[in-house]
Amino acid sequence: MKKTNGPADEKTGKTNRLKQHRPLIIAGPCSAESPGQLLDTARELKKTGKVDYFRAGLWKPRTLPGSFEGIGSEGLEWLKMVREETGMKVATEVGSDKHVFEALKYEVDLLWIGARTVSNPFIVQEIAEALRGVDIPVLVKNPLNPDLELWFGAINRFIKAGIKEVGAIHRGFSVWGKSIYRNHPIWEIPRALKKRMPGMVVVCDPSHIAGKRSLVPLIAGRSIEEGLDGLMIEVHPVPEQAMSDAAQQLRPQAFDRLMKDLDIKSPVNREGSESRIDELNSEIDMVDDLLVRTIASRMELSRQIEKIGDPRYVMTQKPIQMQKTFARLHGLAIEEGLRPEFIKRLFDEISREALLLETSLRE
Ligand code: PEP
Ligand code: MN
Repeated sequence: MKKTNGPADEKTGKTNRLKQHRPLIIAGPCSAESPGQLLDTARELKKTGKVDYFRAGLWKPRTLPGSFEGIGSEGLEWLKMVREETGMKVATEVGSDKHVFEALKYEVDLLWIGARTVSNPFIVQEIAEALRGVDIPVLVKNPLNPDLELWFGAINRFIKAGIKEVGAIHRGFSVWGKSIYRNHPIWEIPRALKKRMPGMVVVCDPSHIAGKRSLVPLIAGRSIEEGLDGLMIEVHPVPEQAMSDAAQQLRPQAFDRLMKDLDIKSPVNREGSESRIDELNSEIDMVDDLLVRTIASRMELSRQIEKIGDPRYVMTQKPIQMQKTFARLHGLAIEEGLRPEFIKRLFDEISREALLLETSLRE
């Protein structure tokens, strides 16, 4: 992935720190958990040479009580260690004026406002007041609900408080019902925001949109096509053991691969050439990729059952299990407006393929 430097501001001669790197890359764990975890991640990320800001959440607003709510101020010392050892700039989320004062004491280089916080104008104003006159870049995530005005309003509270470098993060929106995403991306909204605030840096957080590792690269690629200005990506040395958002964090190696795979050319100028068909086709590409990966995961699961090699299962339970599966999928097909005969044909084919694979494995 190629990176270039942005131009200096014509009036001040200073380079806007958010525009300094194109694309702007922010990466690091969802939460700071221990000094070791933070330093391990930071060292690996430093090696990639792609990261402009190292992120780690210290104060975690969690949906459910009892979840890990972050290490708190203690982690500021660890972020300082990361900066001193690797030279990377550091970023964290603030959710109150108290967090702002703490973070500023440790000279954190960039602050972001989380989606839950952005949904509350009282708190956004409190944070903006705490930052009044401070020279620090601030990134504002979109609120939980797809409300452009609320997002725009929050961004403006920081601009009115005198913050010169304010940017935005598209991290998807909550929707009720089933979705392949954790938070549904609605590309029209960041696009409308960019139109309203030309020149403002808008990056994408594919980790919180995806909710699962396998989808992160697809969404990252899509956001680049969309012309967004950078990425915020969660990276953890052992994601499975992460204390928050374990399913969506990438290993440092996967992050490195993603950076290499993403051919970030100058953002496509979608003005004029933008067509709904292009957009829908790129969504279809994403879903098709997901379909193939999902089939591969299913094959792997049947392979694992086969490896256990229980003859009683094969003779008695397996046929019952298959009948149950078909009955369930029959219902699901109807629910989703698909013809059950089609789903039956598709799954017969998948089962046949699984059997073929199992047989070739035994030979
Ligand atoms: C985060 O960045 O870890 C986070 C909590 O994100 P969001 O506010 O987008 O849910
Ligand atoms: Mn997270």
